[in-house]
Parts: sequence; C-alpha cells; structure tokens
Amino acid sequence: MKTYHWFSLLSVRQRIILLLTIIISLAIVVFGFLMHRPSQHIESISFTPDMSIRQIAPQLGVTGKSLARELNLSLDVSKNKPVAELNITDEELAHVVDHLLSHVDATAAYYVFFVLVLSGFVYLNLLGRPDASDIKRRKSWYPRFPYITTLIFSVLVAGFYFGKSPNPMESIVKVFKSMVGLYPDPTAKVIAFLFFIALAIIGNKLICGWACPFGSFQELIYSIPILRKIKRRKLPFALTNTIRATLFVLTLLFLFGFIGNRKGFVIYHYINPFNLFDGHFESISILITVIIALVGSFFVYRPFCQIVCPFGFVSWIFERFSITRVHVDMDKCTQCGACIKICPLDAAKGRVYGKKLPADCFSCARCLNVCPVDAVRYESIFKKRITKSDT
Ligand code: SF4
Ligand code: SF4
Repeated sequence: MKTYHWFSLLSVRQRIILLLTIIISLAIVVFGFLMHRPSQHIESISFTPDMSIRQIAPQLGVTGKSLARELNLSLDVSKNKPVAELNITDEELAHVVDHLLSHVDATAAYYVFFVLVLSGFVYLNLLGRPDASDIKRRKSWYPRFPYITTLIFSVLVAGFYFGKSPNPMESIVKVFKSMVGLYPDPTAKVIAFLFFIALAIIGNKLICGWACPFGSFQELIYSIPILRKIKRRKLPFALTNTIRATLFVLTLLFLFGFIGNRKGFVIYHYINPFNLFDGHFESISILITVIIALVGSFFVYRPFCQIVCPFGFVSWIFERFSITRVHVDMDKCTQCGACIKICPLDAAKGRVYGKKLPADCFSCARCLNVCPVDAVRYESIFKKRITKSDT
C-alpha cells in the first residue's frame, strides 16, 4: 500500500527515470549473460600422484604455490618432485583437482553486481523521494518494497545462482593472496577489487548495502516484519571495528608468514560464509560462521559485516570518498534523535554529532523518511558543497 502511494506521487520525470533504469538494467544483465563463457572442463586429463606440481598446476590454471596450498603443503615445497613423494595420496589429489575444476567462470556476476548497485543509486538519489512531495508526506518516501526486492534478487542471483565467487569479500583477500604467488594473474585480482571498491564509493557502501549476497541475506533476516518486536541491540562501533581491524591485520601477518609457519595461510578461508552459496562447507568452522551470522541477524544488524568482513572494514575506510551518501543538514537538524533511533547502527548518530569517523552506513534508507524537519537527505557531496556556499 505504501509502495503504491509512493508510486502514485512520482512525477513524470521520475517515472521516465524508473522505466529507463529497468530497461537499462535488463539490457546490462542480458549482455552480461551473452558474454558469459561456460567454464572449461578438463575431463580428458587424468592426474596421478607420480606427476609433479609443476606438471599439474598449469593444466588447472593455477600457480604451483596455489596448488601446494590446496594440497596442504608449504608454499615453498619442491614443485618438481612427484606429489606422491610429498605424501599426497591418489584420493587427496583427486579431491583437490575436483575442487579446482569446480570453480566456474562467473563474469556475468559482475554485470549483476553493477545492476544491483545502479538500482540502489537511482532509488536513493532520484526516486525514493517523489518530486514536489512535501515533508508532511515523508512517511510515503522510500518504501521498503524496492529495497527488499533488490536484496532478494541479490541473494538468489548473485548468491545462489553464481555461487561463492565472485564477491566483495574475496576480492580484497585475493589481492593479498596474489602477492604471495597464489594466483597467476595479480592484475585481474586488483581490477576485481577496484571494481567492487568503485561500487562502494559511487554511493556509500552501495555494494554492501544493496548487492553483496551475504550482506543481503543478513539484511533480509533483520528486516522480517514480525521480528521487529524483538529487542534489537546496537553493538558499540568501537568494539566491532576493533575486532574487524584486528582480524584483518592478523590475516595479513599469517598470510605473509610473519606469524605462524605457514605462508599462504588465510584465516578468512575458515570462516568464509559465501560457501553457503555453493553448499560446500569445507570445514565445520565455515558452517558455524554461517549459522552464527544468520541466526545473529535476528538480533543484531549484519553481524558478519560489522565484526568480521575485511571488505566491510576496507570499504568503511573508503566511505570518506563516497560520492553520494546520507547527509545531515546541521543548519536544520534539531538533534531530536529520530534518525538515530531508526538507524540499526551508530551511523546516523555519528553524522548527527559530526564525528570524523562514524560507523559504517549501508545506505539502507531507514533514516531518509523520519526527520520531522527534513534535515536528512541522500545526496551528492558536490550538491552538499553548493548548498553550503549558497547559504
Ligand atoms: S561487509 Fe557484508 S555486505 Fe559488505 S562485502 Fe562483507 S559480507 Fe558483504
Ligand atoms: S539508517 Fe543508518 S545505515 Fe541506514 S542509511 Fe541511515 S545512516 Fe545509513
């Protein structure tokens, strides 16, 4: 009902933008699928333990170090010895080969991520608030239906259809993994990371808020209407961000071999919830992480994003450069606390009180229709500057 009311208030200009966005989005997704190359299967080659890493790895399209890590060997192990001499059995080799061959080419997923972020960008900046609708009608602004629809699409298509990869979290991890020789083409990993970070900057953490499948899954659970009666807790940002940052630094120290004796060891590999979308829980710790994150989402907003995710941490740093974002007009704000109360994090609070490093804002739009004096808007930083110099 609220969505219908919102739609009926849209101006002709906004309806044209909505129609164009739907057409462009469909065209991009179709183009992405047409460009999609099916993964290559190397069925004709059989690998045996009397072959060396140097013989096997190139045929699987991975580096020798990457294959060594998959085989649970040191990165510096001899690549010329038959793997049998490294105590690898036939079954172990077959298992790792199957695992590596199961990685599918999911180039089309990048188009889907782009479209999801585009939807969020257009909705937040151009459509959520109908033209010429005054403050008395603010309750009909930014209805949840378009957001929830996008989140469902993200979980089903970017998540369960394309599987575990690609995703924003692994994009940052893979950049560092390529630095220790775990990928043959570091440039591709850097480009993938820059792609995701660009989508985080174009609108404040839009890739997390609107497109990441695991973030969307947590958001959907948190948004179930009947659960609103549960007393939700806001975790102190100083605590969650400290844990997230510490985990990130620890991961780098282990990965580069500064601590532990296993260069190439990746902590996130054991707590990667994106495995959910492949249904491959390689270790019990992954299954436990998924359960804790999803059950925790009944009570806490996006627990995995707040406490663990390395991309969540890095994109929080990049929030400083976001081009469009939630802006609180301090000339109008009376600090009544309406946006602070509705915000599931300390993000709105940080903005109202002008903190230099406020908590992550996932561009969820909850705060955009509650301000009684119209001080909270989603807008471009350039518009903000013009407004200030004008007044
Ligand atoms: S912070 Fe959350 S939404 Fe962002 S990449 Fe990580 S899991 Fe996904
Ligand atoms: S409610 Fe909080 S997280 Fe959501 S858009 Fe507003 S400030 Fe950001």
